[in-house]
Amino acid sequence: MPKTLGKVRPHPAQNEPLLFELSSPGKRGCQLPPLDVPETNPEEALGAGNVRREIEDFPELSEVEVLRHFTRLSTWNYAIDLGMFPLGSCTMKYNPRINEAVARTEPLAWAHPYQPEELSQGAMEIIATLEQYLAEIFGMPEVTLQPAAGAHGEYTGIMLVRAYLAAQGNPRKIVLVPDSAHGTNPATAVMAGYEVKTIVSNEHGMVDPAAVAAAVTEDVAALMVTNPNTLGVFEKHIGQIAEILHAKGAQLYMDGANLNALVGVARPGDFGVDVLHANLHKTFSTPHGGGGPGAGAVGVKPHLAPFLPAPRLKREDGLWRWDYRRPQSIGRVRAFYGNFGVMIRALAFILAHGGEGLRNATLDALLNANYVRARLEPHYQIAYNARSMHECVFSDARQEKFGVRTGDIAKRLIDYGFHPYTVSFPLIVHGAMMIEPTETEPKAELDAFCDALIAIAREVEENPELVKTAPHSTRVSRVDEVAAARKPRVRWVRG
Ligand SMILES: *Cc1c(COP(=O)(O)O)cnc(C)c1O
Repeated sequence: MPKTLGKVRPHPAQNEPLLFELSSPGKRGCQLPPLDVPETNPEEALGAGNVRREIEDFPELSEVEVLRHFTRLSTWNYAIDLGMFPLGSCTMKYNPRINEAVARTEPLAWAHPYQPEELSQGAMEIIATLEQYLAEIFGMPEVTLQPAAGAHGEYTGIMLVRAYLAAQGNPRKIVLVPDSAHGTNPATAVMAGYEVKTIVSNEHGMVDPAAVAAAVTEDVAALMVTNPNTLGVFEKHIGQIAEILHAKGAQLYMDGANLNALVGVARPGDFGVDVLHANLHKTFSTPHGGGGPGAGAVGVKPHLAPFLPAPRLKREDGLWRWDYRRPQSIGRVRAFYGNFGVMIRALAFILAHGGEGLRNATLDALLNANYVRARLEPHYQIAYNARSMHECVFSDARQEKFGVRTGDIAKRLIDYGFHPYTVSFPLIVHGAMMIEPTETEPKAELDAFCDALIAIAREVEENPELVKTAPHSTRVSRVDEVAAARKPRVRWVRG
């Protein structure tokens, strides 16, 4: 077995059977005393067809077996609490425990979202306060917290643009999207009924104002731009681009998934953005991944505010009220008022840091990314020679000569005890390796990560096969990713 330098060790016996296979008849996790009241007849109460007396193949185990099974499985997993998560564009930062402590306070965790407004004043105050802080951070007067994710925020934002333009008589036909964009941007534009036109990035990996000027017509509703973009490069012509769009009556949408590079330093509202979303589950440290709850807060300039999803909070006679009478609103985009638990965590993060702390977090995120870039540049090809913000994008150009691609290097990182970086995105970089350390990583962790990638660069030259067949330390090495996505087998059948 090849030598591995990893610090994260999986459980030595990676042969955990399924619960069904561990089962033996008659075992019980807990025992209840015999029933001492007359048993109601479930068949009578529910109808015979709705009752199962026996569940075929239901696993039967003792408590300790169940506990150990899941604990062992958890040791195969990688988590932000175990080590760095360098996934670029995802801003996988550590989730401070204070967020959890606050979110789990009983009156917050157990409040019903539809209990009367008079009994929900505290919860409404939390939502209003978070909206106000985000408005300040975005440089936008109004914010909605209803959307449940970044992509959902994009959809809400473009629907706002559509409603605003329609109110003026013409929703227009086209949304411009740079070729470096996240796939959710064109998807959003299409879902909102627009045709997508691509803007090709220039040699610095930026959107060229001249390219926007050439593309924007009276048919263009908006440009969706990510800033800093997915190459980790700040779109320095953003102010000029906003002017070009506005002169033609088009709107500037900003994908704020990369807000971790801006908070406390620059405000999108100040550089001409009309509407943006931010991912609370990225920038504001709420748990992230597995498709779990998120929040795609959307901020708007005053002209778009009448169209925001209803209901909106308003203050009346010293109390918070939900205002449903919003005749121009695009309507609800989600049940209840958004993912409240996520909002609490984000507000806790903001309050725990304060303005100065948030700004420092941004500066540390930039410092960490540039440190990683400086250490790796002698060994890997930087994709664009522009300044990096909070993430850096390399390509596998030097390793490709040895037949090793970005996906192979990412797999080999697993043997060194790290989660892979983002592979093959953005699409405009051939063999992209996208790394975002975030501010939460200490220098020792960054060094261990860079050491691992540098060691892999050496392995690529000396023994490419070792990298191409990685990982060697996991229970399963390479899976058929296409089959896993297209033909998932999610049900266990006794073999
Ligand atoms: C993460 C991300 C999104 C989508 O956000 P979700 O919360 O995953 O829906 C959109 N754009 C960019 C640039 C992102 O990194």
